Amino acid sequence: MDVKSNLRHINDRINEACKEKGRTPDEISVIAVTKYVSPERAQEALDAGVKHLGENRDSGLLHKLDILIDSRPVWHFIGTLQTRKVKAIIDHVSYIHSLDRLSLADEIQKRAKKPVDCFVQVNTSLESSKHGMTKEEVIPFVRKLSAYENIRIAGLMTMAPFTDDEEEIRSCFRSLRELRGEVQRLNQWNAPCSELSMGMSNDFTIAVEEGATFVRIGSSLVGNETGGGQS
Ligand SMILES: *Cc1c(COP(=O)(O)O)cnc(C)c1O
Repeated sequence: MDVKSNLRHINDRINEACKEKGRTPDEISVIAVTKYVSPERAQEALDAGVKHLGENRDSGLLHKLDILIDSRPVWHFIGTLQTRKVKAIIDHVSYIHSLDRLSLADEIQKRAKKPVDCFVQVNTSLESSKHGMTKEEVIPFVRKLSAYENIRIAGLMTMAPFTDDEEEIRSCFRSLRELRGEVQRLNQWNAPCSELSMGMSNDFTIAVEEGATFVRIGSSLVGNETGGGQS
């Protein structure tokens, strides 16, 4: 399928989920996750009207940056971020979705020339394969970041577990939303925490129903191999 048709289908499903919950579709931004595909395929997404692109590796990001520069995508870094890679990407990304430790915050604080919108990544499923901090660690962590003027806590991010159990997925997303409320109640100057980055190809409708403001969609939008579509 071409990216345009995929996007139309995804937007239809977002609209349905919004209708169900009394939300407006404007509240939700689709991030096209282009980590598996070519710059040309990413360009197709931009041409179809996607404004946000997500990459999970510094190499993929830096490669596509130059090629896609004329379309001015908003870049999101969505993957595990090694501290030593911060310097290479920091001037190019608008959002980092994987802030999960103080050493990474230190490095962002040190390297950024202006405040960077960050998502605190939370392991809501407690699957050991998932990165992110536990829910209990989030509030103390956010408090510590009040001294970091180059970090703005834009929101929270999570990945749901690999399962067919819809209720299990839903409860992860719901717990992230509840945690967002707790962070907001801190009223911390650099933690507006208005966003929820949750939902991927297999679970984005549930995420939208539970309050997602950014969904990160790769395979069902641009495909998962160079030049490919959804199989
Ligand atoms: C790859 C990836 C996605 C997109 O996954 P799909 O299932 O292909 O939509 C979303 N978020 C993160 C963090 C990813 O690494």
